[in-house]
Amino acid sequence: MDKFGKRFQGKVAIVTASTQGIGFGIAERLGLEGASVVISSRKQKNVDEAVESLRSKGIEALGLVCHVSNALHRKNLIEKTIQRYGRIDVIVSNAAANPSVEPILNTKESVLDKLWEINVKASILLLQDAAPHLQKGSSVIFISSIAGFNPPPAMSMYGVTKTALFGLTKAIAAELAPNTRVNCISPGFVPTNFASFITSNNEMRKALEEKTLLNRLGEVGDMAAAAAFLASDEASYITGENLVVAGGQPSRL
Ligand code: NAP
Repeated sequence: MDKFGKRFQGKVAIVTASTQGIGFGIAERLGLEGASVVISSRKQKNVDEAVESLRSKGIEALGLVCHVSNALHRKNLIEKTIQRYGRIDVIVSNAAANPSVEPILNTKESVLDKLWEINVKASILLLQDAAPHLQKGSSVIFISSIAGFNPPPAMSMYGVTKTALFGLTKAIAAELAPNTRVNCISPGFVPTNFASFITSNNEMRKALEEKTLLNRLGEVGDMAAAAAFLASDEASYITGENLVVAGGQPSRL
């Protein structure tokens, strides 16, 4: 018997920044539940390896290069998805950059622009391209962060872009209702490459574990399970919401 159900049989899911880490985990979970998945990232080699890994698990997968801040890449992502599968049921907007550990007031304008462009604007522009193809009953998920609630000093502007996604979730949920639901996931710390500068240091890792009520870091599978729930019909009366998956870390604005 399959470990998971088949909630996405016949459905098509696009997950951005999905050749490793949380994005890959979400694509894999949706694929194991029957979705055809379209994965992408900046590097062809990573795309090829990720597609091969998904196909080896029996998942129907299409892989494309898509740097989310490149307009041609975004258009190609949507066009190729429609050419191959003819529909879009799920979009998970997962890409983010965190190029600076500076306080906000010391952050260069070019870095502020990059943070806004990748972490917020690219999600909006991708949805502008995708919106005409979204099926009735479709679902959009933004990947924010626990850092969006109370931006920590070493990642403060990154945190603020994640706060922006809370507002974006509400606003786009209203624009795309009633045919498409729009929700957000706020992961706690997950030991991926993205978080390696924190989680590979034993002392820091322990301190982070102790910040949670459950005394552990998050796992990619925790985020994938939350995304699969929100994207599925089991969440069909949930829109405009933010699901915090952070082991009980404080989460209030
Ligand atoms: P990760 O393991 O480092 O993976 C990042 C993925 O994104 C890779 O596949 C990478 O492939 C791709 N990528 C990077 N920049 C891209 C761009 N500009 N356009 C397209 N693809 C890009 O990262 P992660 O930890 O899974 O993070 C995923 C999301 O979760 C982010 O939104 C992050 O803010 C959020 N998050 C993470 C944590 C955590 O603790 N890990 C906590 C809260 C929120 P290429 O190098 O081939 O592009």
